[in-house]
Amino acid sequence: MVGSNYECIIVGGGIAGLQAAIQLGRYMHKVLVIDNEEGRSNLCRGYHNILGWPDGVSGQTLRELGKKQAKSLEVEFINDKVITAEKQDHQFLLHTNSKREFKTKTLLLATGIKDRIPPIKNIYPCLGISIYVCPDCDGYEVRDKHVLLLGSGKTGASLALTLTYWTNKMTFINHDGEKLSTDLVEKLKEKNIEVINEKIASILTENESDFKGVILQNGQTVAGEKGFIGFGGNAVSSDLGHQLGVERLENKHMLVDARTKETNITNVWAAGDVVAHSEQITIAMADGCQAAIFIHKRLLKS
Ligand SMILES: Cc1cc2nc3c(=O)[nH]c(=O)nc-3n(C[C@H](O)[C@H](O)[C@H](O)COP(=O)(O)OP(=O)(O)OC[C@H]3O[C@@H](n4cnc5c(N)ncnc54)[C@H](O)[C@@H]3O)c2cc1C
Repeated sequence: MVGSNYECIIVGGGIAGLQAAIQLGRYMHKVLVIDNEEGRSNLCRGYHNILGWPDGVSGQTLRELGKKQAKSLEVEFINDKVITAEKQDHQFLLHTNSKREFKTKTLLLATGIKDRIPPIKNIYPCLGISIYVCPDCDGYEVRDKHVLLLGSGKTGASLALTLTYWTNKMTFINHDGEKLSTDLVEKLKEKNIEVINEKIASILTENESDFKGVILQNGQTVAGEKGFIGFGGNAVSSDLGHQLGVERLENKHMLVDARTKETNITNVWAAGDVVAHSEQITIAMADGCQAAIFIHKRLLKS
């Protein structure tokens, strides 16, 4: 069944998608957001680097507020996963997991990335509260604390080294036991970073989300004040763009025009973490807003 025709469909109702939806709603366009609630913004329990939220705000709160605001502007939402996108005449046809089809004149891909987080007990309630992923976002939160870097190989070791800007009390737990280069081993030694090659079984917490350390698979307990994760292998959700011929970097982030956020495929825009940038909330918002402005300009001409 083909659903209604839209002026814009936004795939991804995370931070970039919601900000774009609000902006497009204010132009009174017919807009649909298709989202399957599996974003990074579904995971993070506390953002601390956003203007107006000095005590932090959770991804869930931001998403609820954004959705409410967009809905008040007549933007429509459905919970589903878009699995294919194709160009048909002057429109795009999208197929979803639940076998629905939608048509749209313009398309915004705000599908984000997916962090690789191994199955470690108790990890999720700590994300953004006492275990962090991004040094630019949360290096400040761990200043002078004993940090356990829960990671893997080169990615984990490099993140541990980056974090020495904020703290010199650091232990790197190399979860997958991936061999480190001699150069990295030397650098870690120079910074007095202890390396433990052992799988992490669970996170030790107090009050569900306060990190206190980890229990390793060999039964050993390692205490720490804060955690950081860097397992590598994050997946960029740019398959739909690829199906349409959108240009991507080798790491699968999509390329867009710096000003308009339009991709190399006319009438296809991309915003947020799926685009090559520093993967932050405020940048995702700016991308979404900027894309929406140029989508509006295009719709005026159609
Ligand atoms: C633990 C953690 C802590 C973080 N802390 C900070 C911080 O302190 N400060 C900061 O600035 N940033 C932080 N970030 C990064 C921040 O969350 C991201 O930059 C932001 O969420 C990007 O927004 P987005 O809209 O691009 O992607 P997302 O928020 O990930 O949203 C993408 C949406 O697209 C949906 N989607 C994907 N594919 C499809 C599909 N095919 N069909 C339908 N829906 C689809 C997903 O389900 C998801 O809802 C953190 C991230 C994590 C994981």
